[in-house]
Amino acid sequence: MLKDIESLRFSYESRLFRAIGSRLGHIPLIDYACSRQLLDTRRRDLLGDAVRVTPDLLPGIHKEYQSCLDMLGGGFTGDLFVQQSSFYNASVFAHDKKFDILIHSALLNDFTPDELRFVFGHELGHVIFKHYLFPVRDIIAQVKNHDPEAASLLFRWSRASEISADRVGMLCCSQLGAAATALFRTSSGLSNIDVNKVLQSFRCQYLDLENQLLFVNNTDAWVRTHPMIPIRFKALELAALDIIALSRKTGGFSTKGFRKIDEQIALILEKIDSCSNRSNMS
Ligand SMILES: [Zn+2]
Repeated sequence: MLKDIESLRFSYESRLFRAIGSRLGHIPLIDYACSRQLLDTRRRDLLGDAVRVTPDLLPGIHKEYQSCLDMLGGGFTGDLFVQQSSFYNASVFAHDKKFDILIHSALLNDFTPDELRFVFGHELGHVIFKHYLFPVRDIIAQVKNHDPEAASLLFRWSRASEISADRVGMLCCSQLGAAATALFRTSSGLSNIDVNKVLQSFRCQYLDLENQLLFVNNTDAWVRTHPMIPIRFKALELAALDIIALSRKTGGFSTKGFRKIDEQIALILEKIDSCSNRSNMS
């Protein structure tokens, strides 16, 4: 499955990665020993401050988590930790094939099993695609004052990497509906809204957002590491049929066709970036 998953990496992410290398003259990847030390320190903190989700403590949730891990394969091992918070959030630290995921309690309390698989898959996507080797926030902090162009490329890479991770989330939940309602809940805090209404809401709001970005005269909102949620939805919707075919092994996935979808999504992101740059100049 891992080879198939690599084909889900958003190719725009790889293109931006090369552009960053050209701009900076090198790729500032995290040192191997440093990455291991970060994971060890993080694990100590998690064992001290959070609660590990075991099959004994939360059998239903652990089963969903383990099913994602089993589906992805590749010998990855890691624990799931939960910490009290009313914010819907999750994060992951990794080194090689080891990782630890931290999830906020509100997510475990409120999300359905399918939505949780989307969240687990998203975090595992960051591990499989080795995003942890490229500490983008630290690099942005180093370059933003003297090289805004490099900082812009790094933000764009970060947003593209989230789209890659979302695809692994969808692979794990194997449906657009659960991926969409997970994003919808994260954005709105609302639950129990009919999935068709959620899909319709995202479709309309994506179009309105696209138009609004043409008029916006403030780039602050676009200096962000994550894409806006309607854009994440749009990127998932365009890729959904292929990812679900891959997930269900129905034979409808073609790498070549998928790259065309990548181009479509990259055009959307580039269009938004060019709006942002234009308003920056005005
Ligand atoms: Zn992410």
